[in-house]
Amino acid sequence: MRKYSIVRGLMALALAGGVALAIPTSVAGVQVLAPPDISLANMRAHLQQFQTIATNNGGNRRSNTSGYTASVNYVYDRLVAAGYSVVKQNCTSGCTSGSGPNVIADWPGGDPEQVIMLGAHLDSVSAGPGVNDNGSGSSMLLEIALVLAAQNPTLTKHVRFAWWTDEEQGLNGSEFYVARLSSADRTRIRGYLNFDMVASTNGGYFINRITSALGQTLKAYYDSIGVQTEENTEGVGRSDDASFNAAGIQTSGVAAGASRVKTAAQVAKWGGTQSAFDPCYHRSCDTFPSNISDTVLNRAADAAAYALWTLAVGTPAGNDFSIAASPVSGSVNPGSSITTTINTTVTNGGAQPVTLSATGLPSGVTATFSPASITSGGSSTLTLSAAASGSSPGTFTVTVTGTGADATRSTSFALTVNGAPGCSGTNGTDVTIPDLSTVESSITIAGCSGNASATSAVEVHIVHTYKGDLIVNLVAPDGTLYLLHNRAGGSADNIDQTFSVNLSSEASNGTWRLRVRDAASADTGYINSWTLTL
Ligand SMILES: [Zn+2]
Repeated sequence: MRKYSIVRGLMALALAGGVALAIPTSVAGVQVLAPPDISLANMRAHLQQFQTIATNNGGNRRSNTSGYTASVNYVYDRLVAAGYSVVKQNCTSGCTSGSGPNVIADWPGGDPEQVIMLGAHLDSVSAGPGVNDNGSGSSMLLEIALVLAAQNPTLTKHVRFAWWTDEEQGLNGSEFYVARLSSADRTRIRGYLNFDMVASTNGGYFINRITSALGQTLKAYYDSIGVQTEENTEGVGRSDDASFNAAGIQTSGVAAGASRVKTAAQVAKWGGTQSAFDPCYHRSCDTFPSNISDTVLNRAADAAAYALWTLAVGTPAGNDFSIAASPVSGSVNPGSSITTTINTTVTNGGAQPVTLSATGLPSGVTATFSPASITSGGSSTLTLSAAASGSSPGTFTVTVTGTGADATRSTSFALTVNGAPGCSGTNGTDVTIPDLSTVESSITIAGCSGNASATSAVEVHIVHTYKGDLIVNLVAPDGTLYLLHNRAGGSADNIDQTFSVNLSSEASNGTWRLRVRDAASADTGYINSWTLTL
């Protein structure tokens, strides 16, 4: 394997300060395994979930909101299902009040005296969903963690993953974590790799502390695919590696750039334009899929996996297999069913008989495998059927377990059971509200039977510096006006409110409009997003 020549070069770059990092060439009876190719499709599925979470929770995933809580649960459930020991660490000092927890996940195995840690912040700013900042890093780490669990290789070092809270308000979650570590625990952490904004649409290829031994393991991957890299100067002290650095722990990581403008020289080597690396940095347009570069994300994920496998992975003993679902998520309407393919791969030794089962099914949903037993290396089709009535809407984690003669492995599938079809919609496109003017944003509803309900919900997010200037109406498809907000609130900023409206005299289907009038001068704003649920 060519990597090793690179690795020997790395040995010469042993770290100054902290505990030196030994990068393995070979350990008695253990040989380094080829790093995996991390699935872009799976990462995109995680990103889609973070987007949906933001959409369903006021448009963002800020650390002290329900959007963050849902993000924590999404990550936590998958890690637990995969076999991690996971802790939700409440940040009891230094964080914004009401902040959700850090998520710390340890994979069993490896030398507990030598820990390799990978982290990414999970929160967003309040201005938008934070899909690139930092849904990208969060999704990438989640997928790498799931692949590590599915392959379950022998580890030469112990592996720990972290999803940080409250980064956007001052790197507070990671600072809290490092501050709580005993000095012995700090010494045990031989390296921390940070991933923040790894999919910028006009992105670059930046590595933190690129000349360090850790930095060089990441660089080695980019070198192997002919992509030039640079030191991440924009991110110095601005992300979660800062507290680890301050504690003398070796760090590195990957970033694709934020608001800094790409230079002509960088355009020449990476493509793109001489504009911000991420045009939607800390804005409402940091959404999925538009604000994600698949290429930049895919390369960052493979670089991170390469570094992790190089630093901590060996070869398992005995017959073993991995298991995965494709796709990893899906939604079903009452009275219908969906399928996903359960694939198994022999990861070591020979094939073995495997029996498949599913747990965590919501009420009204049944699971059937065809076939129910396979030989490892084979596949089966899982059909999930929702009863026409009695199945409650929501998103559920279905755990699929393969019980073999020598090993048992599991994976998860995110199942969304829909409610009545077609009766809700969201418009997240910003609409500027100039001074003393009237603007509209529309949502078209189709496929929803009958009239709207008497308890319809209109969730409105308007950014404005003087909400008392605003008159907000919902306009039904037939032109009927429903007054939602009439110049209330005085000089306070913004409207973030869900209005309950009796729309039972209105047919559901058609184009609904949110009409906003700025009725006084000197203050302006924009419609950020709104959701209509009939
Ligand atoms: Zn960030």
